[in-house]
Amino acid sequence: MHLTPRVLVSGGAGFIGSHLCDRLIDKGHEVLCVDNFFTGARANIVHLLDSKSFEMMRHDVTFPLFVEVDQIYNMACPASPVHYQFDPVQTTKTSVHGAINMLGLAKRTKARILQASTSEVYGDPSVHPQEESYWGNVNPIGPRSCYDEGKRCAETLFFDYYRQHNLEIKVARIFNTYGPRMNPNDGRVVSNFIVQALKGEDITLYGDGQQTRSFCYVDDLVEGLIRLMESPASVTGPINLGNPGEFTIKELAENVIDLTGSKSKMVNKPLPEDDPRQRQPDITRAKANLDWEPTIALRAGLTKTIAYFDELLKQHASA
Ligand code: NAD
Ligand code: UDP
Repeated sequence: MHLTPRVLVSGGAGFIGSHLCDRLIDKGHEVLCVDNFFTGARANIVHLLDSKSFEMMRHDVTFPLFVEVDQIYNMACPASPVHYQFDPVQTTKTSVHGAINMLGLAKRTKARILQASTSEVYGDPSVHPQEESYWGNVNPIGPRSCYDEGKRCAETLFFDYYRQHNLEIKVARIFNTYGPRMNPNDGRVVSNFIVQALKGEDITLYGDGQQTRSFCYVDDLVEGLIRLMESPASVTGPINLGNPGEFTIKELAENVIDLTGSKSKMVNKPLPEDDPRQRQPDITRAKANLDWEPTIALRAGLTKTIAYFDELLKQHASA
């Protein structure tokens, strides 16, 4: 390995990927950000373009890539249901062909490789909270399947490359993560509610709003990803990374209304098909293996995220 690790971040211009690039550059690593800009944005990484340790490459991970690297974070994949359902065949290709291409690259370069997997591998879970030993409850033919099954197949590929080719793999199962640089139009619940509250529009609760999610602030998540990448080779995962604080979607809306001081009203909209009823990570494994747990509580993280969207909306208004 080079003295300065050369790190590839696929999906590096996205929400989580761009924060990861920031942290890796801060750590003195060389970063190659690879993205096709499907949901990512140049604005997320523009501040890094002057750094001599940072390089941006427009590339679609469903095609092979030939570069020399020491570590790979495979983050490329749309994460919002609205975007991953827009072109479901491409979503499966991104997860599966993308994993094959990144694993092939890791095999040739002997790089350590981390997969951004997801709590969606648990589907609509019948075990609560979800621990890594739970195999999940996933519909293979529904509108969410392109993402859920694509990510499950990617996990399979990671473990087969590990068993068959002795690759150094790391699989992180990421639970709902939020923070600055979420795409304001991507339809995820935190960005939707904050943008709606700041604009004084109705807050759209899907279903009765009693379904739950556990929300992790992006800085905590990125810390967990880096600790996992740097953990001993014997730690392959899968490892849940998320904040165990569990809230109903209605409670999330109440917090956003309170913190923004908005006059927005909540309205109920139809619940999307196969929307999971509950989700909470068991992070015992992450605590034991990575000495990691989230430090940023929901209201503190929401306050930072609201400040970001407030500024963004003001810029849009004056543009
Ligand atoms: P995002 O949509 O902001 O980022 C994904 C990035 O991947 C974007 O920059 C997009 O342009 C890029 N991309 C998509 N398809 C690509 C392709 N074929 N080739 C190259 N680049 C491509 O989403 P995010 O929230 O930052 O998620 C990052 C990763 O973390 C994803 O793999 C996602 O599945 C995973 N994850 C995120 C969450 C979450 O709550 N944010 C939860 C679980 C898992
Ligand atoms: N949701 C909602 N209103 C919105 C967007 C989402 O009530 O405007 C709900 C959605 O139905 C789900 C939860 O919020 O129950 C989280 O949705 P998101 O799309 O952020 O992520 P998911 O965890 O479902 O992948």
